[in-house]
Amino acid sequence: MSDVTIKQLAKVLGMPVDKLLGQLGEAGMKFSDPEQVISSTEKVKLLGFLRRTHGKAGAVAEADDSAPRQITLNRRKVSELKVATPGGRGAGAGAAKTVNVEVRAKRTYVKRSVIAEEAGTDSERVEAARKLQESQQQREHEENERIEAEQRRQEEARQRAAEEQRQAEEARRLAEAQQAAASMEAASAEPASDAPVAKDAPAPEPAKEAAASAPAAAPAPAASTSTDHSSFGMIVPRIHEPRRREKKVAAPAPAPAPAPAPAPAPAAAGDSRNAKAKYGRDRDEGPGGKRFAGGELHLSEADRARRSSKRGKPGRGGGRDVSRSGGAAAGAHGFTRPTAAVVREVVVSDANVVAELAQKMAVKGSEVVKALFKMGVMATINQTIDHDTAVLVVEELGHTAVVASENNAEAALAAHTQNAELEGEKKPRPPVVTIMGHVDHGKTSLLDYIRRTKVASGEAGGITQHIGAYHVDTPKGVITFLDTPGHAAFTSMRARGAQSTDIVVLVVAADDGVMPQTAEAVQHARAAKVPLIVAVNKMDKSDANPDHVKQGLGNLEVIPEEWGGDTPFVPVSAKTGMGIDDLLDAISVQAEVMELTAVEDGPASGVVIESSLDRGRGPVATVLVQQGTLKRGDFVVCGVEYGRMRALVDETGKTVQEAGPSIPVQVLGLSGVPESGDDFVVVADERLAREVAAERTQKRRDSRMVSKANRLEDIMAQMGQGADMQTLNILVKADVQGSVQALRESLSQIGNENVKVNVIAAGVGGITESDATLAAASKALVIGFNVRADASARKVIDTSGLDVRYFSIIYDVIDQVKQAASGLLGMEVREEIIGLAQVREVFRSSKFGAVAGCMVTEGHVKRSKPIRVLRDNVVVFEGELESLRRFKDLVDEVRNGMECGIAVKQYNDVKVGDQIECFERTEVARTL
Ligand code: GDP
Ligand code: MG
Repeated sequence: MSDVTIKQLAKVLGMPVDKLLGQLGEAGMKFSDPEQVISSTEKVKLLGFLRRTHGKAGAVAEADDSAPRQITLNRRKVSELKVATPGGRGAGAGAAKTVNVEVRAKRTYVKRSVIAEEAGTDSERVEAARKLQESQQQREHEENERIEAEQRRQEEARQRAAEEQRQAEEARRLAEAQQAAASMEAASAEPASDAPVAKDAPAPEPAKEAAASAPAAAPAPAASTSTDHSSFGMIVPRIHEPRRREKKVAAPAPAPAPAPAPAPAPAAAGDSRNAKAKYGRDRDEGPGGKRFAGGELHLSEADRARRSSKRGKPGRGGGRDVSRSGGAAAGAHGFTRPTAAVVREVVVSDANVVAELAQKMAVKGSEVVKALFKMGVMATINQTIDHDTAVLVVEELGHTAVVASENNAEAALAAHTQNAELEGEKKPRPPVVTIMGHVDHGKTSLLDYIRRTKVASGEAGGITQHIGAYHVDTPKGVITFLDTPGHAAFTSMRARGAQSTDIVVLVVAADDGVMPQTAEAVQHARAAKVPLIVAVNKMDKSDANPDHVKQGLGNLEVIPEEWGGDTPFVPVSAKTGMGIDDLLDAISVQAEVMELTAVEDGPASGVVIESSLDRGRGPVATVLVQQGTLKRGDFVVCGVEYGRMRALVDETGKTVQEAGPSIPVQVLGLSGVPESGDDFVVVADERLAREVAAERTQKRRDSRMVSKANRLEDIMAQMGQGADMQTLNILVKADVQGSVQALRESLSQIGNENVKVNVIAAGVGGITESDATLAAASKALVIGFNVRADASARKVIDTSGLDVRYFSIIYDVIDQVKQAASGLLGMEVREEIIGLAQVREVFRSSKFGAVAGCMVTEGHVKRSKPIRVLRDNVVVFEGELESLRRFKDLVDEVRNGMECGIAVKQYNDVKVGDQIECFERTEVARTL
């Protein structure tokens, strides 16, 4: 059969050679010659082709040209059998029958790789399907779980407890499983070795079948499947795992059995892998009640908690908080924005600048201004508001107001002085006496007499240094007199807390009796709880009537001793000196009764009686030492001033080294002029002195800023009170304290039932900016007595339209104020300063004497106008211009910014740094 030609084949098949050739051609075999040999393979191929083309594809495997995936071999054995015919009729003639027997065997060989591939594809598909299903399940579970978790949040605590239990259980089971795994290892060894045999053996069954059945039959593929599962388990959503784990927890019991679940695999792996394998296994199991097992749930809860906290809804329920306190809190991270405003503690002092307050609260200044505006307070950020308003606005803005602590330096000073007071023994001290009484009843005369007779005795040349106080020696001891007569001074000092006086001597003229100011003096003395001694003066006069005085004072409840009261009445005469010694005796007796004591040793403290700015010596203050001993060289704090005591001068003009209690002394060396009634205290070092002074300056300035505003309100309130009482506010500045006192006193007396003069402030020195602002705020008339306003003050005066008047004669002041106050309107001579020149250099001229080389700094200087020479804003000369020159040419006028030479008539003492003020007198209609 193998050597069959096409021709023979065609003969066998009973078909034309050409047709066979054509069919072969169609089957892809090229034969051109009928004599060609056709192989059996080719014949089969042709057969297959023909069958396919005729729709008879069947048992014969396709003979595909391209890479056959499998080969099926058919072995056909054809044999002939001769079978004898039954009946035997004829002996020899084909009596036997021939039967063709064909035996067919078929073998299909499939490529091993194909098997694996098919098997693999299949398992993959199955796997994928399963995974898909599982992931769907998981998703469902997740959803369910989420919902349930929401629902069960309240139960969480309980669940957590259960979970812990489960975990414990699980741990136990895990141990069990490991044990089981260990036992399984031996058992699994045999089947594992079988596997390769099974594979290698040419299986008689079809390969496909073998592949399909492999997972079930052979442990090895099963194991691989299991591995797949475990790896799949790794990507199973975590939320699912606890469940599985729990279910799995139930499973391990039958684990030892060589069941489809290959326990050996997880056992062989490490711990973590073990867990994964477990999850993998568990994955197949349906959803159970293991939702809250394990730590995984925590994590998801934590996520949720974190998410919710980000949304700014912390702590929605107690249960939730519990869960968060577990893993969630630890897992939480990141920044949480503060939701509540920061409440600050704001230090509020007596005076607060709005901008600073805003800064302390960390808000914009405009917000504070706005808040103030809403409260009805109009303030800019640069203005100062008082303590109460500040507290309100601070609280309005949601912060806490804290009262400013005491100033450190001040506190240190207080401690310092307290210690000094506690130390040392108390010794008797001289009494300090103030004389009071109605005008012209002889106060000054009385004091003069005492001083003249008792003090001046020690004076050389009879020049008394007027220091505002002096002490006299009497047989019964020393008595100190404060030479500032008048209850106004007494009270103004008392108002500052300076109780300087021990005894008040009330002078009443015997010929005049009790007068209004006598009554006032009694009231003031009473208010100060200071004992009175009445000096009935002018007893030398013929019309003296002491009984009338006693009667009048008796009406004021000042009862003479001889009438059963406690007030000594001493008849005296300041003119003749009658009864003066009796008066001093009475004072000494009263002092003894009072048992006045003071600590003599230690640092001094006391009060300022009077002060002024001396041209040669600088600030000069008369102080009354009240405790301790003031020594030369001591550092003192005196009001807002401080300094080292350069010199101590007593009332006789002699310098002294120290001054003890109740001794008045004039001191030099202060940084500025203190105010009457300021206290002074010796401090250990200059640094502390300076600090305290600085703090006080700040405080005083602040309070003045505040009080200004208050005062403006007061004025407006007063204005609304009606026209019954008009008040003329006056601010007085003078060159010396004596003038200040005199002006204050005399101006205070001006007035009637309709008009009152109110001296709002009085002081020594030039008119400063703060004076001007105070006056502007108080709508006050400013009186400069031999003093002038400085540059910054003049700016305020200009802008506020302040009425400032300069005087050099006290009567003029009183006259003008009287006229103004009494409403005597009319023409008034006013001075208007038209120019100011600064002396830069002084030349000596034989013709004119001193010629001042000046720069005109304000306005213009005119030749025809009167001038004044100012030194440190204090008038030192008033006169006329001798000549006004510019570069040797006589001119009538020199304008601002130009240089000129000024010669002053009859004044040759011009110095560099002086100012020459040019003014003119004009008549203007006076307005009140
Ligand atoms: P003050 O305003 O209280 O200070 O009174 P003064 O001391 O200025 O005296 C007023 C007037 O009374 C002066 O003219 C004194 O001369 C006069 N004067 C004071 N004391 C006496 C006195 O004891 N006898 C007489 N006859 N006149 C006196
Ligand atoms: Mg007087």
